[in-house]
Amino acid sequence: MCGIVGCIGKKEAQPYLISGLHRLEYRGYDSAGIVTISNDNKATLLRAKGKVSSLESLIGKNTSKDTIGIGHTRWATHGEPSETNAHPHQSGNVYLVHNGIIENYKELKTSLKDHVFKSQTDTEVLAALVNSFYNNDTELVDAVTQALQLVVGTYGIAVVSARNPDEIIVARSGSPLIIGIGDDETYIASDASALIGYTTQAIYLNDGEIAVCRRDGVKLRDLAAQPISAQVETIEIDMQAIQKQGYDHFLLKEICEQPVTLRSTLSGRVNVEDELVKLGGLNLTVEEIRDIEHVTIIGCGTAYYAGLLGSYYLEQLVDGLTVDVAMASELRYRSFHLPKKTVALVISQSGETADTLACLRELKRRGVKTLGIIIAVGSTIAREVDGGVYVHAGPEISVASTKAFTSQAVTITMFGVQIAQAKGSGAKDVAKFIKELDQLPNEIEAVINNYKDRIADLAKRYAHYEHAIFFGRDTLYPVALEGALKLKEISYIQAEGFAAGELKHGPIALVDDTFFEVALILDNWLFDKSLSGLAEVNARGGHIIAITNSKKQIDAEEVLVIDTKLDLLAPLVLNVAQQLFAYYVTVAKGFDVDQPRNLAKSVTVE
Ligand code: GLU
Repeated sequence: MCGIVGCIGKKEAQPYLISGLHRLEYRGYDSAGIVTISNDNKATLLRAKGKVSSLESLIGKNTSKDTIGIGHTRWATHGEPSETNAHPHQSGNVYLVHNGIIENYKELKTSLKDHVFKSQTDTEVLAALVNSFYNNDTELVDAVTQALQLVVGTYGIAVVSARNPDEIIVARSGSPLIIGIGDDETYIASDASALIGYTTQAIYLNDGEIAVCRRDGVKLRDLAAQPISAQVETIEIDMQAIQKQGYDHFLLKEICEQPVTLRSTLSGRVNVEDELVKLGGLNLTVEEIRDIEHVTIIGCGTAYYAGLLGSYYLEQLVDGLTVDVAMASELRYRSFHLPKKTVALVISQSGETADTLACLRELKRRGVKTLGIIIAVGSTIAREVDGGVYVHAGPEISVASTKAFTSQAVTITMFGVQIAQAKGSGAKDVAKFIKELDQLPNEIEAVINNYKDRIADLAKRYAHYEHAIFFGRDTLYPVALEGALKLKEISYIQAEGFAAGELKHGPIALVDDTFFEVALILDNWLFDKSLSGLAEVNARGGHIIAITNSKKQIDAEEVLVIDTKLDLLAPLVLNVAQQLFAYYVTVAKGFDVDQPRNLAKSVTVE
């Protein structure tokens, strides 16, 4: 959460800072700010509540030619969204931007008597702490190092001093930071997307590292001030991937590009002719795959739901395999026990999710083999897992996750096929899964092309409801959870997902005219059971939209029949209809589709 940018070179800094902040805005949009330093040691500090465009409107009167600066777009953890709480925070000559949480900020604050605190943030405490070590004969990097030695918590920081317009100090512990290497220009970003078009060469900072960034290069050291050698890597995101490409919103673009992104996820991995699946990068031998007896899946939010859906498929695919799925935010504090021969699947779109990362580290400490299912190339989780699969879905800019869900669930399914094939015996439905995996992109494309208008119309008619219940059985249960999450996070309709069989154990009490219900139904062995659940809601005056692949009679206020030849993977097809529904409800309500209130992409704080 939050975006950090910075640059030092020969060109003016403000244009890069603003362009970088626009790119990173999806990471936080409570406030934005920049500071630049002139050669004669004057700082130009600009901060504004709200989006980067508010900050940008201040530039007109405050254009600077300074060639060094840092910037921040905030997702507030401590202190309300306001100009006073906006970063950069200043103490003396020191200006600092921060992503993360300084957990011992109260304790540190009491010792900083010389600084008059203006904000309620934990970050200002860190700025003051750095300044307390920054004497006339101290280098900024040493002051930052001394301060960080006292800090408990997580941080990605960038620091400049009005006293020295020739360097930016950056450091990380738990929050991502990337240094872009240009020609006589050094860039800072908390996410590679801010660097695209400026440079393709980057150093991904590791936890515990501090860097001194100058115009002519970068020097790395650790918290004990020992030098470290830097590894320069190539960024492989292209400009098109981070643009709307004619769509009204990133969310619609990301829903509609699923056939393409999914083909990339499957490409070179699923071979229909030979009925084989092979995921490279697992770093497991066939024997090790064959030996897997338990899979534990870890994620948060949509990634957790993708994991839950994947768990049903793993169980269907591999006889005798036991599977559990855990929310990372819970698991990290639980006294959990895992059987021997466990492999952990760590699911994260950003590869930076703080809770998921903490679980990964705990699992590794216990010697559990960890595999990442990650979208963001070069991210922390992707770098720390023992092996893994990039899902090749391209950057997801809209805060609500869509294409990531589909590709993550599919990747788990491919992994299941690979285990089933390695084990040889007990592999049920493997050929059918492979065929459906291959057909899935086209089936999703058909939903988007053939049902978009009908779903938009439906969405308009249901947008006035205050509450919604989504329900489904078996593989449609995780999909119901995901459908409810999508709707609530962008349309603010209070929506909950339930296992259909659970409705009568409580949730059905809610049904009244302020609610509508989305019933997910597959034309399979559970069809009649699903109809019973539906009848129970109908009997209580429900307003049901049934989303189904069945052409049989279904008694509901609206029935959206999705014509698909898929059976096992049909839930992923129905889910796309739900994604479109959530999108069009939000458009009908006139809310900010891509940057819903109170949220931000990439949850790097607890
Ligand atoms: N804890 C800091 C604040 O609330 C940083 C939050 C962020 O990561 O955006 O200002």
